[in-house]
Amino acid sequence: MVNESNISVLNHDDCCGCKACGDVCPKSCISFCEDKDGFMYPHVDEVQCISCKKCQRICPELKPSYNTKNASAIAAFALNQEARSAGSSGGIFGLLAQEIIKKGGKVWGAAFDSDLQLHHEAVTNIEDLTALYRSKYIQSDPEGAYAQIKKDISEGTLTLFSGTPCQCNAIKNFIGKSDLLITVEVICHGVPPQSLFNKLIAYLERQNHYKITSFAFRSKSDKALHPQSFTYVCDNGKRKMTVNGLHYQFPYYFGFQKYITLRPSCYLCKWAKPERTADITLGDFWGIEKYDSSLDAKEGVSMIIVNTEAGKSLIESLENQKKIFTESFPINVAIENNGCLVSPTPLKKERDAFFKALNVEPLEDVIYNYLRPKRKFIFDIYYSLPKPLRQIVRHLMDKRMKYE
Ligand SMILES: Cc1cc2nc3c(=O)[nH]c(=O)nc-3n(C[C@H](O)[C@H](O)[C@H](O)COP(=O)(O)OP(=O)(O)OC[C@H]3O[C@@H](n4cnc5c(N)ncnc54)[C@H](O)[C@@H]3O)c2cc1C
Repeated sequence: MVNESNISVLNHDDCCGCKACGDVCPKSCISFCEDKDGFMYPHVDEVQCISCKKCQRICPELKPSYNTKNASAIAAFALNQEARSAGSSGGIFGLLAQEIIKKGGKVWGAAFDSDLQLHHEAVTNIEDLTALYRSKYIQSDPEGAYAQIKKDISEGTLTLFSGTPCQCNAIKNFIGKSDLLITVEVICHGVPPQSLFNKLIAYLERQNHYKITSFAFRSKSDKALHPQSFTYVCDNGKRKMTVNGLHYQFPYYFGFQKYITLRPSCYLCKWAKPERTADITLGDFWGIEKYDSSLDAKEGVSMIIVNTEAGKSLIESLENQKKIFTESFPINVAIENNGCLVSPTPLKKERDAFFKALNVEPLEDVIYNYLRPKRKFIFDIYYSLPKPLRQIVRHLMDKRMKYE
């Protein structure tokens, strides 16, 4: 469907890689392969293609759709501490998913397989939901999910689909109007490719002579340190170890936080605006402590934006069961505190140079030049300070930046 193919309707940089075109093609003639930077793109078999244009009709980049802008946003978190800790933010996704399963439904979300490859998977019982919890900062592969959901819905299965806004818009286009489909989107600033994660995990394994068997971003391993922490479990053949760290200590995570490893379409994202596509939008309510000092975003406070009646009734059911704390704020408070509700992530100058280097230079050099803090010792000192002292330093730095 992108301009490498015979159906030249979408520029390469506009394709979000949702893979819905592959699922809808009646001739199964759309396949996916990595481009030079490792992102997946569709390719059409020109001989098999019957020009039915179904791929164009469901493409979210060609047919984006939005709900009307909500007047308010909700700051929320799960009242049960275990449920709150299970999520990257306030643990709201987990509670929504449990509600659907209790009603006999199916929940789709991003989960790692045993080789740390991220796919969209379906879950039908509460115990298996943990695989879907927490943000994984990689583009998830939803191939096959759309077609399966269409089949499930035709058989009457209530379905919750969670994913990035482009994926949620894709499933809406694929299914059309249905009371059986509820979509939950994360506020998303972009996704790097699986291939880059694989390279940097393999690098860590080579350096340390172990195999990484599980990986979690935003692991909340030490909330006092920083929300952008990670935890992985590794095995050196003799014993298993758990390693905790902060984003700047893992090159992949550092590159993600620098915004230099994202898919081209993420810098042009059509969903980075206050009008949302899914029934429910979930994000982090960074900065909420400025409006209510009893809340601390670093402890996990979600931002919920309710976009449809279906979304409203699901959130209300959690409120009625007293499962979540909620406090409503005017939408402008949310917009002021979350850049992804205003515009796409700005394209960083270093981004293209990074991918060029990745293709030709030794990985060690790429990491040295792009994926580590230039003055690591400053990060080390800063994160070793006790939390109150760190807050003072942060406050002074913010103030200085304001006046510079
Ligand atoms: C790539 C990415 C970037 C994000 N960027 C921002 C941001 O800039 N600002 C912000 O406010 N919030 C961002 N978020 C959302 C935020 O990190 C939390 O996921 C969200 O607040 C929900 O938290 P929770 O505790 O309710 O549930 P969690 O348990 O954390 O919810 C996880 C949900 O996210 C889905 N998910 C996880 N990884 C992926 C993935 N790679 N692709 C598709 N779906 C995925 C899961 O299926 C599940 O539904 C981002 C999330 C992702 C995945």
